[in-house]
Amino acid sequence: MAERYTNSQNYSIARGRLRLPGRLASLGKLVRVCQNRACLQRRVVLPDWLRKDDGICLQGQWYCSSGCFELAAQAVFHRLLPNPESGRKRAHRIPIGLFLLSRGTINSEQLKLALDMQKEKGVGRIGKFLQQIRAVSEQDITDGLAAQWGCPVYPLGHARDFLKCASLLPLTLLETGRMLPVHHLRSAQMLYIGFVEGIDHSALYAVEQMLRLRTVPCVVSESELLSALDSLRHTESEPATVFDSPTSPVEMARTTRSYARQVDATDVWIARSGRFIWIRLQTLMEPKDILFQALRQVS
Ligand SMILES: [Zn+2]
Repeated sequence: MAERYTNSQNYSIARGRLRLPGRLASLGKLVRVCQNRACLQRRVVLPDWLRKDDGICLQGQWYCSSGCFELAAQAVFHRLLPNPESGRKRAHRIPIGLFLLSRGTINSEQLKLALDMQKEKGVGRIGKFLQQIRAVSEQDITDGLAAQWGCPVYPLGHARDFLKCASLLPLTLLETGRMLPVHHLRSAQMLYIGFVEGIDHSALYAVEQMLRLRTVPCVVSESELLSALDSLRHTESEPATVFDSPTSPVEMARTTRSYARQVDATDVWIARSGRFIWIRLQTLMEPKDILFQALRQVS
């Protein structure tokens, strides 16, 4: 994510540090500007080592105290929470049943039968019912989704690279979003993420913001995803703290501030991914993740 730079006369501010020209540059290292516009201590002219409370960065912007940080975090949470009336709809294309019909993978009788079963059951995806009546294989569904979304199929059953990169994201996000980082191309700072129900662009955007890398979506088969998630459950070292009941931005900001102090966080990043608001607290050691439920009803 690009940092925000503001120019003002002959100096600029980046991450709360003043950048001064020429001989004044060394002075600039001693000066930080709190990004809370109402803050009475907007200009802190103490060197880092003299300050007791070194402040904290939120979304790359520096705040002088946990009070200023909490106010800014409230604004971020307000912005990220979905409008309750709008709900959340994943951007859908033509339904997968119709898509398979149009490709000639299934016929209209098979589709009608699967739709009737789905209606009777009340829940479940059409692909499952098509498999139940043996109209398609799991591979047909995976291939269909990949063609529908214009993405490649990633062979998760053969490639075990996910074991090296899945921990980049909290496991709860992977389980609820039904997705998985499958391959991390370090040299290009690219992360391939596999989905089983279509591509969730909010999740991709959140990952790009949080990890500052590019994401590439792909499709994986459901059974391979479930088996991969299962193996990850045994290896997860530091599970995220999950708040599964919806709460207010004020409460989220207070809780985030309290955890940030507890773990001595230096940087905090917040993004929305699917039904969660994901907070990553960067520390000098391992990062700490917190997830807040962002929806009243899970869709
Ligand atoms: Zn401040």
